Amino acid sequence: MSDPRVLQGVGVSPGLAIGPVRVIVADLPTVTRRVVAPGQVDGEIERLHASVAAVKELMQDLRERTLQRAGREEAKIFDAQIMMLEDRDFLGEVETLIRDNQLSAERAFEFKTLEMRALWSQSSSFMLRQRVADLAGIQVPVLSHLVGKSVTATLHDPGGRPAIVFTRELSPGLTVQLEREQVAGFGSVEGTRTAHAAILARSLGIPCVMGLVEGLDRLEDGMEVILDGMHGIVILEPTAEEVEEAREWEGFRRMLAGEMETAVGQPAESKDGVAVALRSNVDLPEELEVALEHGAEGVGLLRTEFLVLGRTDLPTELEQAEFFTKVAKAFSGHPVIIRSYDLGGDKFPAAFRTAPEANPFLGWRAIRVCLDHPEIFRPQIRALLRARPHGDVKLMLPMITAVDEIDCTREMVTAAARELQSEGVDAADDIPIGAMIETPAAAMMAEQIAQRSAFLSIGTNDLTQYTLAVDRGNARLAGRFTPHHPAVIQLLKRVVDAGRAADVETSVCGEMASDPRSASLLLGLGCRVVSVSPPSVPLVRWLVRQVDVSGAERAAAGALQAATTAEVDAVLEEEIAKYVDLNLLRAGRLPGVSSSASFKG
Ligand code: PEP
Ligand code: MG
Repeated sequence: MSDPRVLQGVGVSPGLAIGPVRVIVADLPTVTRRVVAPGQVDGEIERLHASVAAVKELMQDLRERTLQRAGREEAKIFDAQIMMLEDRDFLGEVETLIRDNQLSAERAFEFKTLEMRALWSQSSSFMLRQRVADLAGIQVPVLSHLVGKSVTATLHDPGGRPAIVFTRELSPGLTVQLEREQVAGFGSVEGTRTAHAAILARSLGIPCVMGLVEGLDRLEDGMEVILDGMHGIVILEPTAEEVEEAREWEGFRRMLAGEMETAVGQPAESKDGVAVALRSNVDLPEELEVALEHGAEGVGLLRTEFLVLGRTDLPTELEQAEFFTKVAKAFSGHPVIIRSYDLGGDKFPAAFRTAPEANPFLGWRAIRVCLDHPEIFRPQIRALLRARPHGDVKLMLPMITAVDEIDCTREMVTAAARELQSEGVDAADDIPIGAMIETPAAAMMAEQIAQRSAFLSIGTNDLTQYTLAVDRGNARLAGRFTPHHPAVIQLLKRVVDAGRAADVETSVCGEMASDPRSASLLLGLGCRVVSVSPPSVPLVRWLVRQVDVSGAERAAAGALQAATTAEVDAVLEEEIAKYVDLNLLRAGRLPGVSSSASFKG
C-alpha cells in the first residue's frame, strides 16, 4: 500500500529541498460580468492595451533576469509570451469581443484566453498541452492588472526559511520571479520535464517535482516537507530519520555530480580502451545547445514531431531544410540522424487529423502514415536532401516491420533527388537510410533489414513495449516495463549480431541507454554507439569510462542465460558494483529516465 504521506510526481529538476510549504494559488482573478456603455468601448480597449503593455514590460524584465541568472536559451522562453502579447490577431479578437458585445476589457480577455486554454488543453498535441502553463503565465497577470490586483508574485516566508513553493501550474514567470533565497524547491500539479518552467528550474538549479496530481489539497502553508526532485516525490511531515536519509541520498547525488565532472571533456572510452560514440537525442530545438554543451558526438535521434505538433498547418520543405541544415552545421563532423515523422499513436497534428482508432499504438502510425501520404513524406525527404550537403545528415525510419517499407522509402528518395536535380536545386543525390528496430518483427528480421540499411538504431522504448505487450505509458505497469526482461535481451543480442554481420552501425537510442546498468549491458552485448537525452550525456560518458568491457561481456553472457528479470538485474548489478558505488547510481537516476525497475534500494 502506498504511504499517504508520500506524493508521487515526476522529478524534473534534481536536488533535495527540505522546508516549509507555501502554496501559491495562481488562480484567475474573479472577473465580474460587466457590460459597458457604447461610449465606454474605446476606453475599455485602451485599458486592455495598457494592461497588456504593463505585463509585457514585466515579461521583458523577467527575460532580462533570466538572461542574467540562467542564460540566453532560457531567456528565450519568455519570447513566446511576449509574442502573444504583441500578437495583433489575438489582441484584435479581444478588441472585437469588446466592440461587438460591449464587454469590459477583463471579460473579453478572460473569454478569449479561456477559449484558447480549452482548445489547447484538449489538443491531441502534446506540445500544445505543454504550452498551457505559458498561456496561464500571461492570462493571470493581464487579468490581475485589469482588475487592479498585483501582477507579481511575492512570498511571505512562513518560518524565515526558504519555502517549497507549490502551485497548480508553474509558469516560467513564477519560476524566475521569486527571489532565489526565498525558494528551496518547486512542486506543481501540471507539467512534465519538457515544460518551460521545468527547463528553467533545472537551469537555475532549483529542485522541482511536477505531475503531483493528488497534490495541492493535502498541502498546507507552513507544513514541513521533503521534496526530492530526482525521484519525483514529496514526503509530508517527514520523520527525523526520513530527513536524515534524504540528506544521505542528496550527498550521494552530489558525489555523483562531482564524479561526472571528472569525465567532462574526456572521450567516452572504457577502462580497457574501447571507444563508444556517445550521441544525443534531440526532441526540441532548445535541446541542441545542451547536447552541444555536453559534448555529444552528433545527434543519434532527432525527433521531428515537434515540427508539426501544435500547429494548424504542415511545415514547408524549406522550413524543414533550414532546421536540418542548422543542426547539421552545429554538429559538423558528426552524424545527424533525422527520424522521419513518427506520427500516430498519440501524436497527430491538427493539420492531419484522423478518425480515432481502437488501438492507436498498433494502428496507423510512423512509417505507415508517411508511405500512405507522400504529400507529407515527400517534402521531408526533399528537405533532408537539401540539408545533406551541409553535414553528415542521415534519414532514419521509425516502426519498421517489413523490409519493403525501406525499399519504398528508397524509391521515394531517388525520385525526390531526381526532381531536385531537374529543378536545379543544390541538394544531395542520395542519403543514407537507416531503420529503427523497435518492433519484434524488425528484430527478428534484423539480418534482412541490415542488408538494406545504412545503419540500425534500436528503439528500446517501443521494442520493450511491443515485445512484452506492456504499454510504455501505463503507470500501473511501470514495474513490468523493463528492457531487462530476458526476451528483450535476446532480441537486442540478435540485432547487434545482425548489424555486425552486415557491417552496419547498430546504435541504441531508447531510454535504456541512459540507465547505467543497461548501458554496461549494451556494451557487453557489443553495442558501441548510444544516443541518450541531453541531460544524460555526462552520466553515460562517466559510466563508460568506469566500465571494463571484457567484464561487461561476461555479464552480458550471464544475462543471456537468465530466465527472469531478477536474475538479469542481479548479474548486471554484481558486475557494475565492481567499479562503481551502487549508492551513487541509485542516487543518480536522472529525472525522466525510465529505468527497468526502481533504482532506489
Ligand atoms: C523508442 O521507441 O525507443 C524510441 C527511441 O522512439 P520514441 O521514444 O520516440 O518512440
Ligand atoms: Mg519509438
